[in-house]
Amino acid sequence: MKKLIIFCTAFILFNCNGNAQKGNKNTYKVSKTDAEWKTELSEMAYYVLRKAGTERPFSSPLNKNYKKGTYVCAGCNTPLFKSEHKFDSGTGWPSFDREIKGNVAFGTDNNLGYSRNEEHCATCGGHLGHVFNDGPQHTTGKRHCINGAALKFIPEQ
Ligand SMILES: [Zn+2]
Repeated sequence: MKKLIIFCTAFILFNCNGNAQKGNKNTYKVSKTDAEWKTELSEMAYYVLRKAGTERPFSSPLNKNYKKGTYVCAGCNTPLFKSEHKFDSGTGWPSFDREIKGNVAFGTDNNLGYSRNEEHCATCGGHLGHVFNDGPQHTTGKRHCINGAALKFIPEQ
């Protein structure tokens, strides 16, 4: 019986958390008001990270960046992707075959009327892009299609 209660409590907490994430800015380790994000981020980064927008393809200088280094969240500097996992998908958006585990969180959005695998920064909740299953078959098979505006590139020293 005790186990059942624990299970139920966990389920309720999980549910509450899931609902809270949609509108509650206090769910993430780094949380700021909309006004704060707006002053700190560039217009494009704000549109992508905080409004789940999508930049124009081929518009990000990071799309063709193949230098060695780490891609961090433009909102909170959490390392999200590594240069060795970047590949040219031809889509016009920076693409990676894997994320830095634990630093990227996933959810589903229905913006276009169908479910896609939305991904966001696990630290600040900023929207990054989507993951698809048509990535390089010789590695993970995944294509993380990421908005360059959501990223900052830190070159390897
Ligand atoms: Zn972040």
